[in-house]
Amino acid sequence: MKLYKEQEIYIYNSISKEKEKFEPITEGYVGMYVCGPTVYSNVHLGNCRTFLSFDLVFRYLKHLGYKVRYVRNITDVGHLEDDAEDGEDRIAKRARLEKIEPMEVAQIYTVDFRDIMSKFNALPPSIEPTATGHILEQIEAIQKIIDRGFAYEVNGSVYFDVLKFSETHEYGKLSGRRLEDMEANTRDLDKQSEKKNPQDFALWKVAEPQHIMRWNSPWGVGFPGWHLECTVMSTKYLGEQFDIHGGGMDLKFPHHDCEIAQAESCNEVSPVNYWMHSNMLTLNGKKMAKSTGNNILPTEIFSGDNKILSKAFSPSVTKFFMYQAHYRSVLDFSDEALLASEKGYRRLMQAYDLVDKLPIGNTSDMDIAAWRQSCYDAMNDDFNSPILIAQLFEAVSYIQRVHNGTAICTESDKEILKETLKAFMFDVLGLIDEQEGQSGNSEMLSGTVNLLIDIRNDARAERNFDTSDKIRDELAALGIQLNDGKDGTGYEIK
Ligand SMILES: [Zn+2]
Repeated sequence: MKLYKEQEIYIYNSISKEKEKFEPITEGYVGMYVCGPTVYSNVHLGNCRTFLSFDLVFRYLKHLGYKVRYVRNITDVGHLEDDAEDGEDRIAKRARLEKIEPMEVAQIYTVDFRDIMSKFNALPPSIEPTATGHILEQIEAIQKIIDRGFAYEVNGSVYFDVLKFSETHEYGKLSGRRLEDMEANTRDLDKQSEKKNPQDFALWKVAEPQHIMRWNSPWGVGFPGWHLECTVMSTKYLGEQFDIHGGGMDLKFPHHDCEIAQAESCNEVSPVNYWMHSNMLTLNGKKMAKSTGNNILPTEIFSGDNKILSKAFSPSVTKFFMYQAHYRSVLDFSDEALLASEKGYRRLMQAYDLVDKLPIGNTSDMDIAAWRQSCYDAMNDDFNSPILIAQLFEAVSYIQRVHNGTAICTESDKEILKETLKAFMFDVLGLIDEQEGQSGNSEMLSGTVNLLIDIRNDARAERNFDTSDKIRDELAALGIQLNDGKDGTGYEIK
């Protein structure tokens, strides 16, 4: 039987602001869309947190036996600076500054993004569509919205008519913003604006002569608005209605509210059943920003080459640190927090390696079946990874007690313990046992040194002191000191 039949998930739905029982549209199948990166610079650590949060969701759903189609797009056109309507395209700007093709910019940072995600051991999505690969579908969607009366063309650009839409639909229902407030908050800097209303947003923008990213359309040469690609690609690959849509909290408005409006005007159905939003990452208590220098790149964490941390931290430790907070909570990144996470991570891995070596008793001091269910309960409660990790540490202290002889565990419980730890540590959290390689290395080292000690003993027995001294001195030069005692020769690494 599939695990999802016995484990009920509750998801905090950003649109209802309540935890709701998860019931996919088609039993056993889940469609999930997550807004991917705009590939104009190295991936931001805050964005990594968002993608790792949804990797956890993806992994857990798969662990429960769901067949998940996970679509995460690559934004390679249309995302203007400051998310504004009139800024320069982020990718086109980088291409102009570096004097390279926009597609080169997109390629460089797509490769960088995938590389960082694979270092974090995040699973690749099922489909990773690009905005530029779906221009035709976007043009079709715009035509449909115009035909239904919710968009208008002016001077080669097409705008979504928010007021018209609001007569029959609710605009802003995800963020909870009211139209009147939006009007008051919209800074209409350009008094010559061609939009009917300041709240209207672009579906298609006319390309000025200097604009390097441009396509033909029924309205002239131009490029699509940023919000449209997600509507088009999510519904193309997941259907007019699908299960989960995720993204960072900052995307709720306008991006996701615009997505809802576009999809509803095309298909007359609300596109998404469960909206999920992950919270932000701060650095030393402050918002991360390149401009203030309060910023760190994932590669700088892994290499230790930065001014913020005292040492390098591996991708697995960094990810483990992120999962010690719930995805909907703000998380502060600091040296102390990472050092603590590294300690915890090592304790967890060491305990896992100990399970096989535990003595077998005729009873168990811990209710292993109840503990196993509490791990599921944590994840079933809106993917609560910090509670899951706390449960894993309950097992760690039990393992240590059994190892020290102050508690006992039956053989079958030991098996459940091992299997459950393995499932949650490696399949669900997607951690990597980084000690594995190291302990392999240390075994190799001790085998090699012991072999040299044997050769040295043979040489000494043959009174070949040149060889025996050479072995001792050369090892000492490498930092390995041989100690001759009455029980034989040992070594220590200096
Ligand atoms: Zn999006």
